[in-house]
Parts: sequence; C-alpha cells; structure tokens
Amino acid sequence: MENIIIKTDNSLVSYIKNVGESNFKKCFQCGTCSAVCPLSTEDNPFPRKEMIWAGWGLKEKLTSDLDPWLCYYCGECSKNCPRNAEPGELMMSLRRFLVGAYDWTGISRLLYGSKYAEYIALFIVALIVFIEWAILFGLSPAAGLTINQAVSPDKVDYFFDWPMTVFLGAMLTSFIYNMYRKTVLSDSSVKIPFKLYFTEGWSLMFNFFTQYRYAKCDDGEESFFKKLADGKYNFWLTHLFLMISYVALFIGIVFFLNWFQEENSFPFLHIILFDYFASIGLIFGTVYFVIKRFTKKIERSKFSHHTDWMFIILLFLTALTGIILRAVIVYKFPTALIFYVYLVHLLILLPMLVIEVPFSKWSHLAYRPVAVYFANLKEKAKNLGNVETTD
Ligand code: SF4
Ligand code: SF4
Repeated sequence: MENIIIKTDNSLVSYIKNVGESNFKKCFQCGTCSAVCPLSTEDNPFPRKEMIWAGWGLKEKLTSDLDPWLCYYCGECSKNCPRNAEPGELMMSLRRFLVGAYDWTGISRLLYGSKYAEYIALFIVALIVFIEWAILFGLSPAAGLTINQAVSPDKVDYFFDWPMTVFLGAMLTSFIYNMYRKTVLSDSSVKIPFKLYFTEGWSLMFNFFTQYRYAKCDDGEESFFKKLADGKYNFWLTHLFLMISYVALFIGIVFFLNWFQEENSFPFLHIILFDYFASIGLIFGTVYFVIKRFTKKIERSKFSHHTDWMFIILLFLTALTGIILRAVIVYKFPTALIFYVYLVHLLILLPMLVIEVPFSKWSHLAYRPVAVYFANLKEKAKNLGNVETTD
C-alpha cells in the first residue's frame, strides 16, 4: 500500500484564525455548505474541503486552490451550517491568506496580520508623498500664481502618477504570475492548450468589469427583473457602480490630469463623467458598504476585518477630498487654499493606491476575475480531454 505524506503547517491554522472569524475547527464535514452553495458545482464543490484543509493546516492544498476566489460570500453556507462554523467567513479568510501567499514581498501578510502594520505602511507612503511635494512645489505657493503654475500637472504626472502606475502594474503582474504558478502550473493533472489562453480571454475581461458572479449568488427561480425589483442585486450593482467610478477616476487622474486642474476644459467628459458620475458613485458606494457593515444584516457584512474598514474609509476620503478639490478649482478659490486641499487629497489618494491596490483589499478585484479565468481554462482543458493520468 502506498504511503501518502501530508505536510501540515500549524502556524497557518493560527494565521487563518487571525485574519477572519470562522470557527472552522467546529466543522464535522456534513457537506451541507457545499450542497447549498449556489456557486459551487458537482465537479468542483466547495467550501467543505477548504474547512478540512484549513483545520489541518494543509498549506500546499490551500495555496493551489482557486475556489476561495470563486466564492462571492453570499453567506448561504454559513446560514445553513448546523455547527455555526461560518464556512463563508472561512472562504473570506482564505482569500486574505492567498493575497499574502501570492505576494513575494511579504507586505500583504504583515498588513493582514496587524492593523498597526497597515497604519505604519500608509503613514510611510504619505510621508514620502509629503517630502516629494515639498521638494517639487514648496510648502506654500508664491503670490499671484494660478494653481497650474503653482502645481505643475506635468510634474505631478512624472513624479507621482506615472511612477505609481508603473509600480502598481509591476507588483500586481508579478503577484498574478505567482498565482498562476501556484494554481495552474503546479497542477500536473491538467495540461492547458496554448490556444485556450486566448479563446477564454473574454471571461477575464468580462468578469473584471462586471464581477458578474456576484449576481449569480442568488440562485432563486425568479426572473432577472423580479430579482432586480426585489433588491436582490443591490450588493452586486452597488459594487459594480463603485468599481466603474473607481476605474474612471483612476484613468482620469493618471492620463488626463490637465483636465482635472483646469476650470473649463472638455466640459462633457470632465463634468458629467468624472466629476458627477464617478464621484457620486464612490461616495454612494462607500456609504452603502459602511451602512451594511454597521448593521450586519447580511451574511457577507457580518464580520469586518480591519483591512475592510481601512479600504472603505480611504476610498470615501479620497472621493470627498477629490470633490472638494474640484469645487475649489471650479469656483476659483484662492490658489493657496487649492494648493493645500490638493496636498491633502494626494496624502490620502496615493497611500490608498500604493498600499491597498497590490497588497490589501483592492487586490481582490484583480485576483477574482483572474481566478475565474484560470478555473475556466482548467475546466475547458479537462473537457477537451487534456488530463494527465498517473499510474
Ligand atoms: S455545513 Fe458546517 S459542519 Fe457541515 S461541512 Fe459545512 S462547515 Fe462543516
Ligand atoms: S459564501 Fe456563498 S458562494 Fe461562498 S462558499 Fe458559501 S454559499 Fe458558496
């Protein structure tokens, strides 16, 4: 008989406990959670197996698992668990653990493990931004300058926006490659034909922009419009609105900063799209999620980790200071006031982007669609018969 060696990691069990509220040790493997989950399938059931893997500290199994990303925390499993083991929350904790596993710098693990580490990281980036600003523009504008003369948009682009975009892109790309290595390349049971990477590319883009699996969390028999009228898509639609607003503003500040710093340039795009739609989307979305987290009426908002709060608060403050900045520019307030509002806005915006996007909560937005894409690739390859057999 073949001996199978299982490597367990006890520190992993404590880490997973520390980054969420699941009682996974209480699970007695009845399987109800996988049976009621609207997103798991017969061929690929979850979250029962993750409960046992987490309880045993099976690091290799967990780091090669894509399923925590396929869970959108509808909470059905937690509601129906006879042991109150909170399997939905376990999937959330595993996503936090996986962000740390893909990140080779070790920063994500620190941020998820300690709120003080997150405060310190944000403070360090804010300090760097402040020093850069002081060197480039001074600590007060000279009399008689317009805001564009006092704070050159080109310098903001060269010294803040573009280096940050390159940094975020490089970090996320390398982490996603790490995810690919751990979840796809390490899986010797299936071989993915090269062509599939392209033919399945649509699912990556579609899921990134829509996060449509949120909508599939409610598997009732009613029509799309009935569910919409009953408010069953509120969470998904608010999330979608928030996401579109965020992406619109990111593109705006990185590629069209001149428009943001001028009073009347390109009025349609400027005012309708960026100022109103995106800002209202961010404010509305963040307030909605804060209310949900305070009231704890739905399963996915029952438990909040410090990284959840930090991301929402920073996003809200970014939107708020962004709106105030636009208002003081459009209504021609004194340049000195615009200068300081601008500085405060950057001191919130840049730490939020540099820390939250690659290392913390925001990264879920990137990993989820990529995981759906990888899972689709594997499934399609299996359907095509590209399965490696072992004797
Ligand atoms: S329903 Fe609860 S007890 Fe049953 S397998 Fe799932 S987590 Fe474990
Ligand atoms: S939270 Fe919902 S989607 Fe996630 S595992 Fe539980 S039932 Fe499935």
